[in-house]
Amino acid sequence: MIKSPAFAGKRYAVLGLARSGTAVVETLLASGAQVTAWDSREEPRSALAARHGAELNFEDPTTIDLAGFTALVVSPGVPLNRHPIAEAAAAAEVPVIGDIELFAQARADLPAHRVVGITGTNGKSTTTALVHHLLKSAALPVRMGGNIGIPVLEPEPLAAGGVYVLELSSYQIDLTFSLQCEVAALLNITPDHLDRYEDFAGYANAKARLLAMQLPGQHAVFGVGDAETSAIADIETARRSAEFVHRVNGSDLAAMQGDWPSLQGPHNLQNAAVAVAIVEALGLTQAQWSAAMPSFRGLPHRMERVAKAGGVLFINDSKATNPASAAPALGAFPPRPEFGNRRRIHWIAGGLPKSDSLAECEPFFGNVAAAYVIGEAGPLFARLLEPFMPVHRSEMLSEAIRQAIAAAKSGDIIMLSPACASFDQFRDYEARGDAFRQIVEALTEAITSEATSWESGQDTGGTV
Ligand code: ADP
Repeated sequence: MIKSPAFAGKRYAVLGLARSGTAVVETLLASGAQVTAWDSREEPRSALAARHGAELNFEDPTTIDLAGFTALVVSPGVPLNRHPIAEAAAAAEVPVIGDIELFAQARADLPAHRVVGITGTNGKSTTTALVHHLLKSAALPVRMGGNIGIPVLEPEPLAAGGVYVLELSSYQIDLTFSLQCEVAALLNITPDHLDRYEDFAGYANAKARLLAMQLPGQHAVFGVGDAETSAIADIETARRSAEFVHRVNGSDLAAMQGDWPSLQGPHNLQNAAVAVAIVEALGLTQAQWSAAMPSFRGLPHRMERVAKAGGVLFINDSKATNPASAAPALGAFPPRPEFGNRRRIHWIAGGLPKSDSLAECEPFFGNVAAAYVIGEAGPLFARLLEPFMPVHRSEMLSEAIRQAIAAAKSGDIIMLSPACASFDQFRDYEARGDAFRQIVEALTEAITSEATSWESGQDTGGTV
């Protein structure tokens, strides 16, 4: 794990002992700090107690006097705008930080390395995984961390010359104050997570801080497309020389995109463009990155091709948890002349809605053969979509898949791209995507073994 003399002899309170909180406790103890840890669940407390005994103190930081603590380390899942701990820490003048800030403070003692920080409303994980893939292909020591992969503090430090590629949500940035990324990237900003911020401007400001923490001689990469991102790019341009600011729209890469099977659609062109600008800022040549792009495999639950039966392609895009991320999925498939240069997508949408509009998806409604609405958003989405397309009020995911299979013909696509959070019917978007895959596998197996008209369908040509 990562350790640092910077923490020795200091006192920390740690709230939230999931995997990253547990890594925080381990790092602090191994660095010689005193730690008071808490989680309302008994299980992670007893696991830590078994390893550390009396060395570790368990108390709920909301119930103790915080005076004298160096910092309170919380998990990004704690809603600081509502949780009583924020007020208690402010009253005691104790900073509230996260594991990324501890990593930032430990950097001076790590072997020589560079840090890439990637944020944005949509595309963070894909871009982070792609940067990781490109650097790895160029034989650099590299690790993904932050919102993706294993907690940044948990493994041993990288060897000299390594690159830490961090996916950073706005919640993580809110808990970070001294991270100076050699390269920071902002993909896009659209309304999301408004329950955690006073308003949209507050959410955009959270993203802006990743760039504001950098030194003027460090690289900043911006996706081109929305007003909030470009306003932040303008601020950053004003304080750096031109060679350190990169605004990318991907137009120079479009001709190559056909060779990148897991990076289809306009949204992935943005992700690819940002990733290329990042690795070029780190010194990779075009020959290096272009050789590695075709072998990138996308992440699960993001435009993931889960099955093909009877010429029908099944796509799991469960990670599309807001309308802005579902929209590009509806536009991602190459048009087909036999369908009037459109696609026939059976679109399964719904869940816990984040807004009462699907306006961002509207430009792609021509690609939707029918919608199958599920979850709490069902009645709302049905009302919004009925003027444009046939709508099935399926309510449950399994029913939606069944109805879509009954309606689909060869060349069609059945896609879960919910434009909603999952928590009304599932534990998280991963459980929702896993359920989709399992139901699809069960139903297509039954159909294929009945040897119905599903057999011998032609290829859909839709690489995703
Ligand atoms: P994040 O980590 O920011 O949530 P992901 O890479 O996991 O982003 O992608 C989440 C969903 O957002 C995907 O299902 C995809 O449909 C959509 N998406 C990906 N990249 C973009 C982008 N650049 N702009 C808009 N939507 C995107």
